Amino acid sequence: MIAGIDLGTTNSLIGVMDAGFPILIAGEEGERLTPSVVHLPGPLVGRAAARLRVVQPANTISSIKRSMGRDVRFHGKNPEEISALILGKLKRDAERALEQTVSRAVITVPAYFNDGQRQATKRAGELAGFTVERIVNEPTAAALAYGLDKLNAKSKIAVFDLGGGTFDITILELNEGVFHVLATHGNTRLGGDDIDNALLSEIEIAREGDPLFTARLREAAIEAKHRLSLEEEARIELPFAEGETSFSHLLTRAGLERIARPIVEKTRGHCLRALADARLSLADLDQVVLAGGATRMPMVRRLVAALFEREPNTSHNPDEVVALGATIQAGILEGAVQNMVLLDVTPLSLGIETFGGLMNVIIPRNSTIPLKAGEMFTNAMPNQRSMLIKVLQGEREMARDNWPLGQFEIAFEPGAKGQARVGVQFEIDANGILHVLARDTKTGAEKIVAIQSAVDVSDEAVEKMLGDSVEHAFEDMNERILTESKLKASEMLAAVRHAFGIIDLSAEEKRKVEVLAREVEAAMESGELARLKKANAALDEGTQRLATLLVERAMEKE
Ligand code: ADP
Ligand code: MG
Repeated sequence: MIAGIDLGTTNSLIGVMDAGFPILIAGEEGERLTPSVVHLPGPLVGRAAARLRVVQPANTISSIKRSMGRDVRFHGKNPEEISALILGKLKRDAERALEQTVSRAVITVPAYFNDGQRQATKRAGELAGFTVERIVNEPTAAALAYGLDKLNAKSKIAVFDLGGGTFDITILELNEGVFHVLATHGNTRLGGDDIDNALLSEIEIAREGDPLFTARLREAAIEAKHRLSLEEEARIELPFAEGETSFSHLLTRAGLERIARPIVEKTRGHCLRALADARLSLADLDQVVLAGGATRMPMVRRLVAALFEREPNTSHNPDEVVALGATIQAGILEGAVQNMVLLDVTPLSLGIETFGGLMNVIIPRNSTIPLKAGEMFTNAMPNQRSMLIKVLQGEREMARDNWPLGQFEIAFEPGAKGQARVGVQFEIDANGILHVLARDTKTGAEKIVAIQSAVDVSDEAVEKMLGDSVEHAFEDMNERILTESKLKASEMLAAVRHAFGIIDLSAEEKRKVEVLAREVEAAMESGELARLKKANAALDEGTQRLATLLVERAMEKE
């Protein structure tokens, strides 16, 4: 039996297939949603921990998912270990309900999670005692839950996911029963929590000195917010708050919507950008589906309907669809559901650093996984004994602007410049985890590294990476061309020096080439691209005869 798990920023859920149907399992408290909150040193997880957040905020950790893959610690534990506590609770709940051990799982992650974050999620599952059969993208799981795998070939689906603290919009394409991510966008700091905060500051009686009161008020306000998704009015009531008098505040749906509007409106731009990235117009979309608890709000549904010019599919509980989809995926792996392959794409390009600090892309962004790709590299220096493979992720032309995922050295047989042949191969498995292989093709010596080092992904980093690459496209391209021109210049200068040593040229001819070479040096120094290109071309032209002589000489020798 394989469990499906939505390890959410705010809430987590677990499900299993039961006689061909996905069911979500309630915990001891009878709720299917487990707050993703951990209290230490306990450890206490879920609702119990969430209650302690008020009295012991320093010992209570929420939204750990934001830190996934980062090198941080809370009470001596890293994000994987804390996530493992949440997963462990889900596992125990499932085992209690099913009266059997549940040791295999499918876990979902946001589509924009990079390799480091996916690996960290997988390790969290392993720490909790699961064999992690697959890491699945949340929007893919949501689409599966809505049964969209039954749509026609080439159907396009938008998954609008507004949770507690994050917003994601993903465009999927269905092709022969397989989902492809066409584009993904969002904001890692946008969700229902922001509406709660705005609501609280509006009520304006949250008192700094009284955290218990503020916490009770927050809870009551959130409850009222939820009620307002169905009713027109809700009263926030705290009996005997503020000493003798009890607190009471009537909130209307219109009032809540006025407060929430600026927050909800922020989703609009991301949706438009995702569509643009996918090169689609509204008419191309076949379905729009909702995920995340905050999409229960009528105003969110209205915005989605207006923006996408159609009613969104609301046939499922939005805060449960990701877990349901994970469970269906688990069923597919078990063989309980008709076999269907699920494919995803790489959110950002992967490559290595090459000469001159350039990014050399091996797997471009939006490639369908699983896949393998490789390239041959050579040594820049004579007698070099090893090559440093720096694995990078990102869209920028210069290596330094991309994220380092890890690095290792591969030794090879020393030889003249350009003699070594090192093959570098990237393989992304079905879980989206990257394995890098480097091989000296002469000796067959090789090294395989599963990239373990986490990427420190700051908030909205993926989004920022994409934005930056567009913003700096022009400078980046210029810098790449300049770097490439400099590399070419160095190569030609070295070749000229070498040729002077073995070929006898007339003084006149030698002087001409020297003038051209000096101009190349000066142009390199100046960093002026146009001048360098011109100088390179002139030197290339001016050494034609020298090159011919070199070739002739080489042939004579043979
Ligand atoms: P996450 O994906 O971040 O773990 P969820 O999908 O569980 O989160 O969404 C949690 C958010 O949904 C919270 O902000 C919660 O207040 C909000 N939410 C849940 N139910 C409702 C409702 N009925 N009306 C409005 N908001 C809701
Ligand atoms: Mg979610």
